[in-house]
Amino acid sequence: MIRSRRYLLAVLVSCVASAGCAKLVSRRLTLPAEYTVVREQLVIHSDFRIPSHHRLLEELSARRGDIVSRLGLPPSDEPIDVYLFENADQFGAFVRLHHPEFPLRRAFFLETDTRLQVYAQWGDRIAEDLRHEVTHGYLHSVVPNLPLWLDEGLAEYFEAPRGNGGLNRSQLEILAGKVEQGRWQPDLARLDTLQPSRDLSRDDYAESWAWVHFLLENPRVPRELIREYLHDLRRQGTTEPLSARVGRTLATPDQQLIAHVWQLAAS
Ligand SMILES: [Zn+2]
Repeated sequence: MIRSRRYLLAVLVSCVASAGCAKLVSRRLTLPAEYTVVREQLVIHSDFRIPSHHRLLEELSARRGDIVSRLGLPPSDEPIDVYLFENADQFGAFVRLHHPEFPLRRAFFLETDTRLQVYAQWGDRIAEDLRHEVTHGYLHSVVPNLPLWLDEGLAEYFEAPRGNGGLNRSQLEILAGKVEQGRWQPDLARLDTLQPSRDLSRDDYAESWAWVHFLLENPRVPRELIREYLHDLRRQGTTEPLSARVGRTLATPDQQLIAHVWQLAAS
């Protein structure tokens, strides 16, 4: 992780459509700033009016409570600036100008030493994009040095709409297909070695989500496993990897994970 230029990508799919990228009629070269809505930690900036009680903002605000209660973390009051661009053209022009090193996606999270920021383009998938990126913001405001896979796994888990128990259907579909073909061998220790400076593959995203879902939703797994890990990481800044704790607590966790995914897919 390069803290001063860190970015976490929303999802692996749908770069801003290339046709839209090529047709930049009105370029936005500065951050949206005309309207601001504040919802607890979230400071939402846009150049178009968003009702202050828009249901998406309500959901994002409530997600903070979900994360705090599910993971046993204290809430933070550190602001998370969310910049909403009106469309893909404006978002793409801004990113190419100010962050040309970034792959072009619909949304991303950026952490510097002093700020937590989300950039996103308004569109059909804005809800899932913001649930994902804002989750990064909430997590980073309270836990330092999250392993890349856990950061993304939690964001994929909390990207699901509220009330869905973290069920990310696109990730489940990827894994169910691999399980069916007998070609999936999960390996949490391998995920723990992945460095923040790299990008996760599509399969790594899916496996990261699956481990988080397993640790938070499987009735055989003590919820304290992930909670204690996050608590220690928050308190000490570094701690024993989660894979080591899982290996010590659960028998054949990789096989249990495969069974967990298979059961989810079957139901
Ligand atoms: Zn992410």
